[in-house]
Amino acid sequence: MLHLFLCCLALLLSPAKPDPDPLQDYCVADNKTPQSVFINGVPCINPNLASASHFKTSVLGKPAKTSGNPFGFNVTLTGVANLPGVNTMGLIMVRGDIAGNGLIPPHSHPRASEVTICLTGSVLVGFVDTSRRLYTQQLRPGESFVFPKGLIHFLFNLDSSNPALVLSGLNSQNPGTQITSLAAFTSNPLIPDEVLRKAFQINGQDIAKIHKNLGG
Ligand code: MN
Repeated sequence: MLHLFLCCLALLLSPAKPDPDPLQDYCVADNKTPQSVFINGVPCINPNLASASHFKTSVLGKPAKTSGNPFGFNVTLTGVANLPGVNTMGLIMVRGDIAGNGLIPPHSHPRASEVTICLTGSVLVGFVDTSRRLYTQQLRPGESFVFPKGLIHFLFNLDSSNPALVLSGLNSQNPGTQITSLAAFTSNPLIPDEVLRKAFQINGQDIAKIHKNLGG
């Protein structure tokens, strides 16, 4: 009985909820009408005007340039803008192009778990749990790995001469992404130096150098 009570209490108090369930079959995003009322998601078009093309996108088929990115990666996301039919479905897909030895740096998604599949190349993936244990694996084409909701994770292309391609699904329409290093060193306004000095046990010169390197 006590066990049941504690389970119910844990469920009731749990802040980690998935996106709310849709109240209709679909809610094709209305991307044309300027929004004057802001709701949780995007308003739908008249369902009678929905067509099959609203549920299709080709954005994930296009390789993205990794050359302009300091870490050597580029991500392409599906979303209500390029796939209006995904509105209220509680999921998105992400294509990750990673240059030779490129890195999708440690980051977290506050509102989604992520499952990734390696399509091309050889990718070292990993996440760190709240007890700071690292779970890491090397993925080859066809192999998948899951990153639990909210935990910091990364994807590194082990091959220096060939690009890697990964595809991920995330269980939120709006997962949010926080890149750990950028959050710490390129916030606006910046986190006070004294806080960074203490947190990372580094000096002012170290901070200036990291700010410069990361564009903070
Ligand atoms: Mn991720």
